Amino acid sequence: MASILNLPHFQDPDKAREYLEALRWANGVACPHCGSLGKHLTLAGSKNYRPGLRKCADCYEQFTVTVGTVFERSKIGLHIWLQAVHWMCASKKGISAKQLERMLGVTYKTAWFMAHRIREAMKTNPDGLLGSGGGTVEADETYWGNMPRSKVAKLEAKNKPHGHLSGGWHKEKIVSLVERGGNVRTEHVRVRMLNKETLKEILDRNVSKDAHLMTDESKLYNKLGKEYASHQTVNHKNGEYSREGVTTNTVEGYFSILKRGLVGTFHSVGEQHMQRYCTEFDFRYNTRISLGVDDVQRFNIALKGIEGKRLTYRRLDGQQAAQI
Ligand SMILES: [Zn+2]
Repeated sequence: MASILNLPHFQDPDKAREYLEALRWANGVACPHCGSLGKHLTLAGSKNYRPGLRKCADCYEQFTVTVGTVFERSKIGLHIWLQAVHWMCASKKGISAKQLERMLGVTYKTAWFMAHRIREAMKTNPDGLLGSGGGTVEADETYWGNMPRSKVAKLEAKNKPHGHLSGGWHKEKIVSLVERGGNVRTEHVRVRMLNKETLKEILDRNVSKDAHLMTDESKLYNKLGKEYASHQTVNHKNGEYSREGVTTNTVEGYFSILKRGLVGTFHSVGEQHMQRYCTEFDFRYNTRISLGVDDVQRFNIALKGIEGKRLTYRRLDGQQAAQI
């Protein structure tokens, strides 16, 4: 069987552009400047115009299919971008910038930046509340970090007299909410300690009050759980993982994929970028095969998400804009 990467849109920039045009403009060409549908002049065909250039008949602005997307003004061929999107959609535990560098034939810096732009494309707006209509939502939190022990000890000694620090303070806090048979939403919470108030705020925004909530024995959920149709817990400390359908195995399964990615694929993830990695793992989980989404559909969903999310290098890490 020929590799999927032999398909023309992965090999040729013009074919890639045509693929993207067919996907984004399935209902007619839309001007990204004024929103006008279908009224435009095609300027292609002359060497003075770049391929795919159009001019809006309403606002007279020029545009191509990548204007207003994460691919805008990129010097990387569109077919290379599509390859990167393919790899990120198809790799269950993610793919490192180092690996992308080798496979795409670009520099490490370019690969890193492309991957972050694609993570932006994978970001979706939350659609309603999880567990609406009496569904089951598992909530759990996990801690992840790789600060060296010596540094942890040093900071703890320094702060001890003030009583400021307690368990897990030096790690990244990640909260995931998973609707059984449905979607996950993961938030990287940038606080020193996770408390009841923070969790309540996250659950209020994401979980329907008529949902059945399942958590572990953490006291953080005691009062909060009363706001939902029901709240049941499994007691991990007593070695209990499942009792007549009461379990947090789904959310823990999600965490294990996320952590295998963070440890095995990405190695070190800066605090400022953690949410983007969580978003990437959420995207793949929410477009997983058991929900009826295949690899090509997942790829197309990611490509439809490129709109309205231009991401500058400055926003990513404060350095000068890169020529990517
Ligand atoms: Zn226009």
